Amino acid sequence: MSEPVYLRPRTVAEAVQMRADNPDYLVLAGGTDLMVGAEQRSTPHGVIDVFALPELLGVVVGGDVVRIGAATTFAQLLSEPEIHLRVPALAAAAREIGALQIQARGTLGGNVGTSSPVGDTLPVLLAVDAEVELVSVRGRHRVAYRDFCTGYRTTGLAADELIAAIWVPARAGWRQFWRKVGTRRAQSISKVMLAAAARVDGGVIVDARVALGAVRERPVRADSVERALLGHVPSEQLAAQARRALAADIAPIDDMRSTARYRHAVASNLTARFVSWLATAGEVR
Ligand SMILES: Cc1cc2nc3c(=O)[nH]c(=O)nc-3n(C[C@H](O)[C@H](O)[C@H](O)COP(=O)(O)OP(=O)(O)OC[C@H]3O[C@@H](n4cnc5c(N)ncnc54)[C@H](O)[C@@H]3O)c2cc1C
Repeated sequence: MSEPVYLRPRTVAEAVQMRADNPDYLVLAGGTDLMVGAEQRSTPHGVIDVFALPELLGVVVGGDVVRIGAATTFAQLLSEPEIHLRVPALAAAAREIGALQIQARGTLGGNVGTSSPVGDTLPVLLAVDAEVELVSVRGRHRVAYRDFCTGYRTTGLAADELIAAIWVPARAGWRQFWRKVGTRRAQSISKVMLAAAARVDGGVIVDARVALGAVRERPVRADSVERALLGHVPSEQLAAQARRALAADIAPIDDMRSTARYRHAVASNLTARFVSWLATAGEVR
C-alpha cells in the first residue's frame, strides 16, 4: 500500500476544503489518542493535521460566553486566567489529564472527538451546557454538547466537518465542582469523575447540573440527582437524598479498571460530596 498523504492546512477554509475533498482522511490534532490506537487501525489514505492551526487556537471571552478553539491544548487552557476564573471545572479537569507531556500535546477538540466514556473534560462540558461549533464547506453551526455525544466513542460529527471550537456560557453566580478518581494523581485513566455546576439563591439550590463520566457508555447528566436538588437547601440530609437518587442515573460496568460496585460507591460518594461542598461553600455574589 502507498504511504498516506499528509496535509497541513494553513487556514480553516483550506482545512474544510481538504475535508470535503477527502472525507476518508484522518483528522489529526495532538495525536495522543490516535497514536495509541495506530497499530490497531488500518493505515488511513491520508491525514489532515490541524494541530496548531491558528484559527483553531485560543480562548476568547465575549460578554457572557467563552469560546475555546478546538486545537487549544490543555497546557494552553491552563495558562489562561479566564478559564480559571470562568470555567474552573474545566481548568481542574485539564490539570489532571495525563501529565505535563500529554497536557502539552492533547487538545480539547481531540478529547471531544474521541468521545471516550473516560474523557475527562466531557462531564464538564455537560455540566456547563457547552456547545460544539462545527465547520465545513457547508457553513458553521453550533450544537449542544449533550446532543453531540451520541454513544460509546461516537459523535454527531459529519464526514466533512471539523470541530472548530467549544462554547461555554460564563454564567455569573454559579459554582463549579470537579473531582476525578483514578489510581493515582497523574497518568491515570479515570475510574469515575463528577463535574457539577449549581446556583444557590437565598440559601436554596435554584439551578443544578451534575454530570458523571465512566459510569455509562458515555458521559451522562444525572437528571434524577438534579431533580432531587432543586428547590432545597444544601445540607447533609440533602446529600444523602442525592446519593439515593443517583442509582437511576448510572449503569456502571465491570472492566479491567474497576468493578461496577466500586464505581457505584465512588459515584455516590462524589455526588454527596458535591452537595456537602455546596452547603459549606455558600453563595456566589
Ligand atoms: C499517556 C496518556 C494519558 C492520557 N491521559 C488522559 C487523561 O487523564 N484524561 C483524558 O481525558 N484523556 C487522556 N488521554 C487521552 C488523550 O490525551 C485526550 O483524549 C486528548 O484530549 C486527545 O487530544 P488530541 O489532540 O491528542 O487528539 P487526537 O489523538 O489528535 O485525535 C483524537 C480524535 O479526535 C479527532 N479530532 C481531533 N481534533 C479534531 C477536530 N478539530 N475536528 C474533528 N475531529 C478532531 C481525531 O480525528 C480523533 O478521532 C491520555 C492519553 C495518553 C497517551
